[in-house]
Amino acid sequence: MTTTHAAGIGSVRPNADWAYDRAPMIIYWELTNACGLACRHCRATAMPEPAAGELTTEQAIAVLDDILGFSADGEPLPHLVMTGGDPLKRTDLAELVAAATSRGIGVSLAPAVTPLLTKEKIFWMKEIGIQAISLSLDASNAEYHDGIRMVPGTFDATLTALDHAAEAGLPVQVNTLVTETTATDLPAVYEVLSQHTLMQWSLFFLISIGRGSELVELSPGDAEHWLLWAARTNREAPFRVKTTEAMHYRRLITTPMLRAGKSRAEIEAGPMSRGFGIRDGNGIVFISNLGDVCPSGFLPIEIGNVKDTSLVTLYRDTELMRSLREPSSFTGRCGVCEFNTWCGGSRARAYAWTGDPLETDPLCPYQPAAGHSS
Ligand code: SF4
Repeated sequence: MTTTHAAGIGSVRPNADWAYDRAPMIIYWELTNACGLACRHCRATAMPEPAAGELTTEQAIAVLDDILGFSADGEPLPHLVMTGGDPLKRTDLAELVAAATSRGIGVSLAPAVTPLLTKEKIFWMKEIGIQAISLSLDASNAEYHDGIRMVPGTFDATLTALDHAAEAGLPVQVNTLVTETTATDLPAVYEVLSQHTLMQWSLFFLISIGRGSELVELSPGDAEHWLLWAARTNREAPFRVKTTEAMHYRRLITTPMLRAGKSRAEIEAGPMSRGFGIRDGNGIVFISNLGDVCPSGFLPIEIGNVKDTSLVTLYRDTELMRSLREPSSFTGRCGVCEFNTWCGGSRARAYAWTGDPLETDPLCPYQPAAGHSS
């Protein structure tokens, strides 16, 4: 599996400034880094076998008990996305899913498309209470996709898995990598996906970390072009089109509404606002296979380990996490931007490019009305 983002969405509420201070909406949990694929852009730099020191079943269940602490004051629980590596490589997967769902924690799964992902396994996922899965499709044809995934046959197997999930009644988010060389293929990928059933399509704008550091991100101008294309496509698509690590999509889709005279309060009250504020460390937190906690899977700054510290404490009280939830602490354009509570930029990309997670997202060319520049 190449990205950590699956389909599940929790119901945790942000405060008035779109800061998720009390709890994340989604916890991404890399159950293992073992995976049968070796994708060219893998964040996890997955390996065929599990790493030494991965959380045991007992330790993982203790983490689930800890997660219940997020709702101690009556808040809804975060949603859990079990990812990897390939979570199907965990022999205790069914036990962990059962332990989560019996505690009231909703679970989505981000399986890799390997021979482990059979039709029976997909129906089994539905049976054991998994709410949604994500699959990656990075190109409109087998040659490109299999070249990225480094395993022939993965393109066809992905579309087959998509159809099996539809048959099982299991909602699917399809993730597509967007880089300088793959962006022009997006319309063709859309045509392919339009022939199938899915819940949403997420365009993952590459962050140059892990194996992905070998690939090239779009320029800010080209990213703007493809985000506008995504917004237009979303209006006609039979599924929702969203983005991952391109938070300024929210600026692009709300600017026409503001120009048309809609107030910020009206926009915030509408369905458009779903996902506002969500970014690395704000509404999102990541647990690695070893138990290390980071603001997201793409922002690899460790703030502690669940083996010895409560995830609730790490999420709520760590200085870095507090800063990531407070756009006024950002430097450069993102710090003064009138969209920063809704957007806030990719903290992961800022870190990848500058070493400072509070810097401006270099993928966004916007010059805020406040007139500052980075
Ligand atoms: S400048 Fe930063 S906060 Fe403003 S739209 Fe761009 S990425 Fe978002």
